[in-house]
Amino acid sequence: MKPRVFITKQIPEEVEKYIAEHCDYSIWKEDTPITEAQLMEKIKDVEGVMSPKAKVTRSFLNHAPNLKVISNIAVGYDAFDTELMASHGVLGTHTPYVLDDTVADLIFGLILSAARRIPEMDKFIRSGQWTTMQDAPLFGKEVQGSTLGIVGLGRIGEKVAKRAKFGFNMNVQYYNRSRREQLEEKYGLEKKSMEDLMQSSDFILTMVPLSPETTRLIGENEFNLMKEDAIFINASRGKVVDEKALINALGENKIGGAALDVFQQEPIDTSNPLLSMENVVLTPHIGSATQKARDAMAMKAAENLVAGVTGNVPPNVVKELRHLVH
Ligand code: NAP
Repeated sequence: MKPRVFITKQIPEEVEKYIAEHCDYSIWKEDTPITEAQLMEKIKDVEGVMSPKAKVTRSFLNHAPNLKVISNIAVGYDAFDTELMASHGVLGTHTPYVLDDTVADLIFGLILSAARRIPEMDKFIRSGQWTTMQDAPLFGKEVQGSTLGIVGLGRIGEKVAKRAKFGFNMNVQYYNRSRREQLEEKYGLEKKSMEDLMQSSDFILTMVPLSPETTRLIGENEFNLMKEDAIFINASRGKVVDEKALINALGENKIGGAALDVFQQEPIDTSNPLLSMENVVLTPHIGSATQKARDAMAMKAAENLVAGVTGNVPPNVVKELRHLVH
């Protein structure tokens, strides 16, 4: 008998076929997202669940006594309670590498959009304000040759560093817990303290995973340290930043601008002051949102799922749970 699994969202046909070869499966195919009560019902006799951002709580695990693996269709797994999962012997997997370049491309789009005020200039033309040849009021900030500070130089941070160094001749510096000597050599990077990085960067990007340690890692103190024309970019998770402090820093012109793909609350509340700020570029959490990247993520998640329910070691067990397989 094939192991039973449940998938909480539509997946590409090719991925479904692959899962069908190995598992007895069902997929949530409704237009509306699955509710918590519906999910609890669906998981009660499965050995594997595949989902983007499955919120893994005690109740989730108690409802799925046969569960062996939760395959996250994303690289960030802050919705996993890894201690709880370890105590239940449940593996958690994610989808690193296949989306790194896609997310780095979006980040560069955000950097350029904020620096050269592209969305603002687009609105300027469409609203009929381009009636004379203006000069200084339309100036932006130079990207090439400037300094980029990356908080969290991991897989995606490295791809951003590569673009910054070789595409834009930027001086790239980073803050991490561990040193990345090979990358320092490869891209001419410099490791800095958080304080130094904030003070000396023209563009500051946060790319750390959300964890208790990184929650509100960037707050009032950090914004106070930044240059007054610094542009702050966040494409990791909204909660890595104290959003109120960011709104204050932007409102009081303590920094030059921001470009954000992620928010404290998603979808964003329509009354969020960020929505009416000219010096902010916003995208709705689309870092990995291309067909190619999303298909690759779904296939990787399926490989992890199938391995986890067929007695094999999934290739991408999250680091906090690797002790369960080695
Ligand atoms: P990664 O390879 O794990 O890199 C994360 C980096 O952050 C590592 O270099 C890590 O180095 C550093 N870090 C972790 N905790 C830290 C701390 N407390 N202080 C300082 N540095 C810390 O992850 P990734 O694949 O690059 O992805 C990063 C995050 O981006 C994901 O977790 C996800 O939340 C987010 N993401 C968002 C999108 C989107 O659509 N916007 C798409 C993909 C990913 P050390 O451990 O040595 O410090």
